Amino acid sequence: MKSIFEVKTTSKEEVLDITGKVSSIVAGSGVEEGICYVFVPHTTAGITINENADPDVKKDLLRGFDAMVPRDIRYDHSEGNSRAHIKTSLVGSSEAIIVSGGVLDLGTWQGLYFCEFDGPRSRKVSVAVFSR
Ligand code: ZN
Repeated sequence: MKSIFEVKTTSKEEVLDITGKVSSIVAGSGVEEGICYVFVPHTTAGITINENADPDVKKDLLRGFDAMVPRDIRYDHSEGNSRAHIKTSLVGSSEAIIVSGGVLDLGTWQGLYFCEFDGPRSRKVSVAVFSR
């Protein structure tokens, strides 16, 4: 079963907690034991799993990614958003999470983060839940 939901970002760069949305799709799937696969079909937005206890982690992630991708090298891509493409490749476009007991088997401090690198835009997230 595949579900798609929309994410509206409001800044150039943003980390959005989508754990609740994905969890509700898992609950609606009726799958008790299996895999939840989350895919972001964009080239300047991705997904990662990280700490969702301290909101400052989201800001630090963006700062860290920004520091990792140089501003002062030559980029040929004419759209001018090569740094957003590179950050997207750094975080990746998908995550697979084990579903156990009908819920996402995330660690205590883990959340699922949609990462916008070239917003604000309307984005899509695709979720497929597989039963084992
Ligand atoms: Zn581009």
